[in-house]
Amino acid sequence: MKNLIKNFLIFFTVFLLIAALFSLFGGNGQKNEQVGVETLISQINSQAVAKIIIVGNEIRATLKDGKSEVVKKEAGDTFSQIVKNYNVDPNKLSGLLVEVQDNQGLDYWLATILPFLIPFLLISVFIYFMMRSVQGANSKAMMFGQSQARETGREFKGKVTFKDVAGAKEAKEELSEVVEFLRNPQKFSELGARTPRGVLLLGSPGTGKTLLARAVAGEAGVPFFSISGSEFVEMFVGVGASRVRDLFRKAKKGAPCIIFIDEIDAVGRRRGAGLGGSHDEREQTLNQILVEMDGFDPNANVIVIAATNRPDVLDPALLRPGRFDRRVILDEPDLADREAILKVHSKKKPLGKEVSLKRVAERTPGFTGADLANLLNEAAILAAMKNKKIIDLEEIFSSIEKVMLGPERKSRILSDKEKKITAYHEAGHAIVAHFLPRSDPVQKVSIIARGQAGGYTLKIPLEDKHMYSKTEYVEEIAILLAGYVTEQEIFGEVTTGATSDLRRATGLARKLITDFGMSESLGPRTFGEKDEMIFLGREIHEQRDYSEKVAEQIDKEISNFIDKAVHQAKGLIKIKHEFLEKVVAELIAKETLEKEEFEKIVGEKKKEE
Ligand code: ADP
Ligand code: MG
Ligand code: ZN
Repeated sequence: MKNLIKNFLIFFTVFLLIAALFSLFGGNGQKNEQVGVETLISQINSQAVAKIIIVGNEIRATLKDGKSEVVKKEAGDTFSQIVKNYNVDPNKLSGLLVEVQDNQGLDYWLATILPFLIPFLLISVFIYFMMRSVQGANSKAMMFGQSQARETGREFKGKVTFKDVAGAKEAKEELSEVVEFLRNPQKFSELGARTPRGVLLLGSPGTGKTLLARAVAGEAGVPFFSISGSEFVEMFVGVGASRVRDLFRKAKKGAPCIIFIDEIDAVGRRRGAGLGGSHDEREQTLNQILVEMDGFDPNANVIVIAATNRPDVLDPALLRPGRFDRRVILDEPDLADREAILKVHSKKKPLGKEVSLKRVAERTPGFTGADLANLLNEAAILAAMKNKKIIDLEEIFSSIEKVMLGPERKSRILSDKEKKITAYHEAGHAIVAHFLPRSDPVQKVSIIARGQAGGYTLKIPLEDKHMYSKTEYVEEIAILLAGYVTEQEIFGEVTTGATSDLRRATGLARKLITDFGMSESLGPRTFGEKDEMIFLGREIHEQRDYSEKVAEQIDKEISNFIDKAVHQAKGLIKIKHEFLEKVVAELIAKETLEKEEFEKIVGEKKKEE
């Protein structure tokens, strides 16, 4: 609307300016010849004139030959007087058309008024724009403090309910209490029950925290105000706190409702732990959240749900009773949950008959809900690219690997030499993994580049696992180092292909000692305080809580673990050298070996528990 007015004003001004120029300099477009009164009289007498138009002090004559001319007369004189004065024969006038026009024509007006009007108009336009820009700046300044919470109202289409959240049984049970409370608050207040204020959803990224919060709103049929923690803290200092105030004000108006603060760790980190200025802003925002949550009318019927994947860094004040006193943990889905999630997400996807979602779930340990949704989407895209009408197991399995390891890079062409090295490297991983008693079976070995890796060996656990023993970790280090060891044994030197293996092996060895207390010589304690600090946007992770001497011991112990693992891998490679060569030959020929093909060479995996 404002734009329309603005455009119109600009257009109008330009139009007026052009019109003014025309009337001042251009006249009527065609140039009329100026003649004297005598000439006109003689032309009338010779009957050369066809038409006369009198406009103000001008007599405009059109001649019979089509020419036109203008005669200026005195203001007082009329045409008839002039004719009389010059004694023109009335008969000569009889054939002549005489017309008198008002001289108040448009151009007359423009010519007289514009010189006054234009400056006036220009000034008003100028003032108008000035006012507008000042107002604009003002209203923008007012907006800073407003929360950008998006409300999804009661009539929100495509409403999410608990049905859309597969698995997560305990979480849904916990939250159904909140739903009940939002639907039916009297039931609780009659018994004098204090209402829950805040619920904290904890879980790794992609486990469905945001989804679940929406589902709670959907189930209860209440509005849902959502904002992300990082939105509180923006360019301008002091905005966060006023945004919080605004958010809670809006929510109270819309009660009963849910406020959802996503990624609350962005503002809710432990106070007093950081360095630098932006930190202050966060503290104020957090304080404001605490104040608002305390200041709630107990019957306000507003429930705050917050989500985070870093509960360890949250300020203890947030977790006090009366604030986020309920904690709901979302675990990574187990086998049954994965199958259920796959079912939810395959609803609108035509799957082939042989596709068993159970088998897919078995192949995807450690996948979160988001990974699974992504996996099915990738499979659908892949099937569409092949012009298929249904999604087959084939597409799903290759999508699993894509989600796990990144896309295949078939275009990366290896020279024969590189191919040979990669084949030995991967075969080394696979052989060691196969013959170590506690490790998971090899699912696939490949020398096709994927994501960052030059090749890959895929192991998939037979069941979900939450605990690992020291033996398993030590075997894992040996498997990680097997590529390096094999290269060394066969070629006498190693390539850069082993870099990330080495880094992971070293990291794992360090964890065994410092986090898991699995080193005999250093004993059952942890080393290093994982304190969160933010400095210049980077997290400084570790704070030493041990002496220089212990640091030395840790380094030595890491080397011990690594040496043992190298020894173990080397032994296996030597004993199973025959198998290694066979696997390498197959890999060079086929590039990828599936579990069955691999086990045909090396025999079935014998796993010890
Ligand atoms: P988070 O907020 O925990 O990072 P989201 O709630 O954004 O994760 O989940 C991302 C997506 O993953 C959801 O939109 C949904 O499609 C899928 N998803 C995650 N968990 C589940 C689940 N339990 N059931 C169905 N879909 C899920
Ligand atoms: Mg989320
Ligand atoms: Zn490797």
